[in-house]
Amino acid sequence: MAAARRPLMAGNWKLNFDHLQAIAFVQKVAWTLKDAKHDFSDVEVAVFPPFTDLRSVQTLVDADKLELHYGAQDVSQHDSGAHTGEISGQFLSALGCDYVIIGHSERRADHGESDEVVHAKAVASLRHGLTPVICVGETAEDLEQHGASAIPVAQLGAAVAELPKDAELVIAYEPVWAIGSGQAASAEQAEAVCKALREKLAELHGQEQADRTRILYGGSVKAENIAGFMREPNIDGALIGGASLKVDEFCSIARFR
Ligand code: PGA
Repeated sequence: MAAARRPLMAGNWKLNFDHLQAIAFVQKVAWTLKDAKHDFSDVEVAVFPPFTDLRSVQTLVDADKLELHYGAQDVSQHDSGAHTGEISGQFLSALGCDYVIIGHSERRADHGESDEVVHAKAVASLRHGLTPVICVGETAEDLEQHGASAIPVAQLGAAVAELPKDAELVIAYEPVWAIGSGQAASAEQAEAVCKALREKLAELHGQEQADRTRILYGGSVKAENIAGFMREPNIDGALIGGASLKVDEFCSIARFR
């Protein structure tokens, strides 16, 4: 991790926690982070609850002035109109979201989200002042056929095509085979792909954006393996699924040093 980039520890709750559970969880995380003897000021902590929890999380964060960022797990590429079930970037922005996850492999697999849709969602996020957390990653089959970098680099290229060069982006490298499997990539494997992603960003959008953009690793991140990832120069944080649902573990990950 380069000193200039502030580490981001992002908890992707997926389809877990209703709004009452979200309130209890965020309060506990806030206490733990406040009580900790360690200084968190150099780490950004964010949670990604289901849509229905966002208003409750916003109320807590605002009322207690919590140093906790939050975002949504998806956004519509549309802004309004006849799109049943969709949530627009404007609505998320109005709820104080800073971020939105785009192109998570579960959305690519379960909802057939193509690279074009991911790109359209990145454009929609930026239109409403949300920072897209663009997820890329290879399946086990891709890994066997093409190696680790080819697919994530191609997905990144498609997602960021024609986005403004000064846009704030976060990239999350999540090998699909590592998600929820307990089988994380090694720090060296993850670093090699994150480095290739940064080089692709530099080629497409210039070195300045590549140097400033945070690239996260995701896939079976735990308290016990986070430090190894964070020692790598091109890994600036983590996107955490299962381990982000446990207060102590999530806070230990945020306290990775
Ligand atoms: P996991 O999920 O940490 O449970 O592997 C990561 C993710 O899907 O973002």
